[in-house]
Amino acid sequence: MKGLATIRNGWGAWLAMAALAALCAPASAAELRDVRVWDGPQNTRVVFDLSDAASHQVFTLENPARVVIDLADIRSSALDPGAVGGEGLLRGMRSARQPDGRLRVVLDLQRSARTSSFALSPQAQYGHRIVVDLKPEAGDEGLATETAPTAAAASSAPEASVQQPAARLEQKNIIIAIDAGHGGEDPGALGPSGLKEKDVVLSISRRLATLVDAEPGFKAVMIRRGDYYIGLRERVRKARAAQADLFVSIHANGFTDSRVRGSSVYTLSPNGASSEQARWLAKRENEADLVGGIELADKEDTLAHVLLDISQSAAIEASVDAGKRVLQSLGQLNKLQRGEVQRAGFMVLKAPDIPSMLVETAFITNPGEERKLGSGAFQQRIADSIFEGIHSYFENYRPLRYVDARGGATTAAVEPGIHTVQRGDTLSELAQRYRTDSRRLRQVNDLDSDMLRVGQVLQIP
Ligand SMILES: [Zn+2]
Repeated sequence: MKGLATIRNGWGAWLAMAALAALCAPASAAELRDVRVWDGPQNTRVVFDLSDAASHQVFTLENPARVVIDLADIRSSALDPGAVGGEGLLRGMRSARQPDGRLRVVLDLQRSARTSSFALSPQAQYGHRIVVDLKPEAGDEGLATETAPTAAAASSAPEASVQQPAARLEQKNIIIAIDAGHGGEDPGALGPSGLKEKDVVLSISRRLATLVDAEPGFKAVMIRRGDYYIGLRERVRKARAAQADLFVSIHANGFTDSRVRGSSVYTLSPNGASSEQARWLAKRENEADLVGGIELADKEDTLAHVLLDISQSAAIEASVDAGKRVLQSLGQLNKLQRGEVQRAGFMVLKAPDIPSMLVETAFITNPGEERKLGSGAFQQRIADSIFEGIHSYFENYRPLRYVDARGGATTAAVEPGIHTVQRGDTLSELAQRYRTDSRRLRQVNDLDSDMLRVGQVLQIP
């Protein structure tokens, strides 16, 4: 919040100049309608709302750290600079019109940052946009603290274990990745009285994280911790980096018919949706990236082909089991929209090896459910129910950590009897590790040879 005063003052001066400049701007120029700032811990995003497409250029300057954004041919009108966060990089914002008609916006930063920028065409409630993303130069600090338990456990393993000949399985903390849907630029569904899905689900997620962290042996990792947008694939990447054992994406549903209400739970389906409604919902939730704004390059990442891997089917089976328990528990609290776990092609559930579910807590478009969703007491009861379901799932599946002979490298194994193949695994070594033999492993898994693929899921007899 520190930069707020500076920014407001800066904009006051800028507005006066912009008003003057508007008088002599050519009629074809785009209008800058709004500027929104999402200042998150790992990524600061500045969004320029324009009436038409406009070209732009971004460059960085050091000492002091600044980012300069030149917008071509901008005819401005009075505007509200919008909300300014405070967890991130931004110290202030100023602007000036250049002699050649460009509008130059300068972002003053706490420290230097890498930038990327892209233009978005109209989508949902938004028109043309130019998005500038800033990432602090010094790595992913937020994530490092979130993933601490496993890393710390690995590095603090005693030297003595070097002498220990055999590998062993140890119980690890159960890590629950909690993904509050939408955020920042993308409000999600809106209630009739203006309640935003992104705010409700963040609050429920925080409550859920508190419950998870309070339970011995459990640890929560919040994928989004404030009001900023994270791309759908990035959410999955964060969960994997944290070695999550379960991924729960929290949402509030929206529909054109305000009478529709109830809770539902979804898992990924690689081959078609379980109903037309599930397909429709997946399409809408997947569009978050278009509304929230991600770079196109981010869509073509390597996860895409991993998705087709057979390993997903084991994770999906586990997802459905975990999802059933959460649905059952939610059913004690709220009317269920569907009594069964629904399936569709949700982008955010496409982690190849983490059981994942998407919980639509209630319909924010239904006036009664909007009122409930806005109340802290109901949010808490929703969080309680989800946690109850998660907890009951892990009473049956205790994740174990494989500790090798050096006590060093660890990989997650899930009991009962599943191993996800890591780089360097061989069938004979796995047979030894799980106290069985290669022939039996081949037999149980229908393998023709000893060849293994990274990510492949093996049944352990
Ligand atoms: Zn949603």
